[in-house]
Amino acid sequence: MEPDVLTSRTNDIKQVLLSAIEEQKISLAYQSQISLPAKQLVGVEALCRINSGTWGDVSPEEFIPVAEHTGLIAPLERLVLTQVAHDLPLLLQEHPDIRVGVNLSIRHITEPDFLPFIHAWLDTLPASAVARLDFEITETYFQRISQSVIDGLHTMRTRGVRIVMDDFGSGQSSLSRLHTLPFDVIKLDKQFAQQIDHPMVYAIIKAAVAFSHEFGIELIAEGVETLEQCDALQAIHCHLAQGFYFSHPQPLAHWLSSQNASPT
Ligand code: C2E
Ligand code: MG
Ligand code: MG
Repeated sequence: MEPDVLTSRTNDIKQVLLSAIEEQKISLAYQSQISLPAKQLVGVEALCRINSGTWGDVSPEEFIPVAEHTGLIAPLERLVLTQVAHDLPLLLQEHPDIRVGVNLSIRHITEPDFLPFIHAWLDTLPASAVARLDFEITETYFQRISQSVIDGLHTMRTRGVRIVMDDFGSGQSSLSRLHTLPFDVIKLDKQFAQQIDHPMVYAIIKAAVAFSHEFGIELIAEGVETLEQCDALQAIHCHLAQGFYFSHPQPLAHWLSSQNASPT
C-alpha cells in the first residue's frame, strides 16, 4: 500500500500505531483455551490491544492489516513479544501446565533479521517457558512461505515452540501443501463452530477432527459462543476449544488470581 493510496482512516490508524510504538504503549489481553469435555484451562492466547486515546480502543482486525501494509508490524510485534516475555513467567507460575499462544505475522517472519531476533528473544526465556510457547500464523499465508521460512520454523520447533496454523479453512487453503508444512496445531476458523448446526459444516468439522486424530495434530475450534456449539463439538470428539462461551480476552491480572483459573 503506497502512502498516496492510504485512506484517511488508514492514515489515522497508522498515526495511532506510530505513537503506540513510540510510547511503547500496547497491552495484551489473554483468552482461554479449554479442553473438552473436562473444561480445563489448557492455554491462553495473547491478543494485542491499542488504546488510541482519542477514539478509545482500535480493533486488531483494523490495526494489524494497517501495520502489515505500512512496515510497522515488526516493531509492533516486538513490543508484543517484550510484553509476553514479561507476562509468561507470571502466567506459568499461576498455571504451570498451560501453553501461551502468540500471533506472528508472515510479514514479520519473512523479514531478514527475524530469525536472529526471535532466537535472541527465546534465549532470554527459561527453556521451560520456551517449551510452553505456541506461535500462531494465519493459514492463508502458509501458502506462500518459502523453504527458508519453513527451515526457520523448524529451528523454532526444535526448541520446543509449537507452530499453530491459525484461522484454518477461512481463506486461501493450503490443503495441497499441508503435508509439506511445519505445524503442530490447527485452529479451525471461528466460522466453523458458529455454523456447526448446518449439516455440511458439521461434516467438515467432523472430518477435520478425524484428520487431526489420525495425524496426531491438535485441533482447536475457535469462536465457540454457545453451550450448543460446545456440546456439538464434544459429541464429535473435538478436544480443544476457544471462544466467548468460555471467556472473553482478559487482562493479565485476571489470570493471576486463582479464582479466575476456571472458565466463566
Ligand atoms: P485470531 O488470532 O484468530 O484471534 C482470535 C480472535 O477472535 C480475537 O479477536 C478474539 O477476541 C476473537 N474471538 C474469540 N472468541 C470469539 C468468539 O467466540 N466469537 C467471536 N466473534 N470472536 C471471538 P481480536 O483480539 O480482535 O483479534 C483479531 C485478530 O487480530 C486475531 O485473530 C489475530 O489474527 C490478530 N492479532 C491480534 N493480536 C495480534 C498480534 O500480536 N500479532 C498479529 N500478527 N496478529 C494479531
Ligand atoms: Mg490467533
Ligand atoms: Mg484465529
